[in-house]
Amino acid sequence: MNIERSERVKTLPPYLFKELDRKKEEVRSQGIDIIDLGVGDPDLPTPEHIIDALKRAAEDPANHRYPSYTGMFDFNEQVALWYRRRFGVTLDAGQEVVTLIGSKEGIAHLPLAFINPGDTALVPDPAYPVYDIGIRFAGGTSYFMSLVKENDFLPDLSSIPSDVAGKAKLMFLNYPNNPTSAVATREFFESVVQFARKHNIIVCHDAAYSEMAFDGFSPISFLEIDGAKSVGIEFHSLSKTYNMTGWRIGFAAGHPEVIGGLGQIKSNIDSGAFQAVQIAGIEALKGDQSCVDNMRRIYAERRDILVEGIRKMGLRLNLPRATFYLWIEVPEGYTSAGFTDHLLTRGGVVTTPGNGFGSAGEGYIRMALTVDKKRIAEAVKRIESIGF
Ligand SMILES: *Cc1c(COP(=O)(O)O)cnc(C)c1O
Repeated sequence: MNIERSERVKTLPPYLFKELDRKKEEVRSQGIDIIDLGVGDPDLPTPEHIIDALKRAAEDPANHRYPSYTGMFDFNEQVALWYRRRFGVTLDAGQEVVTLIGSKEGIAHLPLAFINPGDTALVPDPAYPVYDIGIRFAGGTSYFMSLVKENDFLPDLSSIPSDVAGKAKLMFLNYPNNPTSAVATREFFESVVQFARKHNIIVCHDAAYSEMAFDGFSPISFLEIDGAKSVGIEFHSLSKTYNMTGWRIGFAAGHPEVIGGLGQIKSNIDSGAFQAVQIAGIEALKGDQSCVDNMRRIYAERRDILVEGIRKMGLRLNLPRATFYLWIEVPEGYTSAGFTDHLLTRGGVVTTPGNGFGSAGEGYIRMALTVDKKRIAEAVKRIESIGF
């Protein structure tokens, strides 16, 4: 039998981290101690009260069946209450919220509801790869909006050719941003709403890092902007806020027609998140939020140690006000891949080459603050000693 993969799979962009994964294993197999600043996955455990809520819910046979409509609704209602408290945004839990099996799931599925083969979507570069992948799987094509330092890593909407803006169906945005750690201003979001209205573009804002911010800074929601709910939606996740990446629970909120379209795709593909996980998610959103302050304090400490060390070596980067990423310019004479390779093979420090997030990421590496401060200090010492 001749098994052949579909064109949509065969034409996927090459996985740029494959070579890095191979080298990492090679270095590890030589017995070298590896400090992994590569993966954006919190190393801290899920807070106890959320685990307890899951344990109780897992014991209840009512939660062993397909999630019920009301079970789903209880979580959505909690999402609406959380939006109200956190951002002052009012949502109709029945029409304007959908529960996701992690926000990645919703991001990947959303284009299936709105993109026809041949359609265009606007996607940042560098970016979380799932935006472009979701558009490809729906048969669409991404127009990449470069995020450059000179424009504070915000897309320059005025540079998008009018024929592209005219035919674009949707736009993905992500602030606080992975991988650049940039944050969006209210003025920028206002210009996005105007642009989207003018060109009839659905805006999908990914706010996975809205709670991971430092020095008293509180990122805004896209839905806070006047008119935002009439042009788009916002994706959210419990993954980063509550150290729940493995639990697979997130949500999207905003325009009821957009939420409805995503919901229609989902109801034909999955049957919702495990109800016990939704109940634990309710506990996360409405319970004591001191665990979130704790998470921010820990990452801020790590950030300060790493930023200070990196700057002392003469490398350039912006101090992140949010996210657990440092977006660092590579030194003279190196490419992203070359510098990543140098740090790994000479120092045992794993970082991510910026071009893995898109061609505009060339010239940068990303470090994630996902090891404790002793290991971060050790990484700084090693990089200092190997030099570059
Ligand atoms: C981590 C991350 C998410 C969250 O993904 P989940 O599927 O909810 O775990 C979403 N967007 C970006 C940009 C991320 O980095």
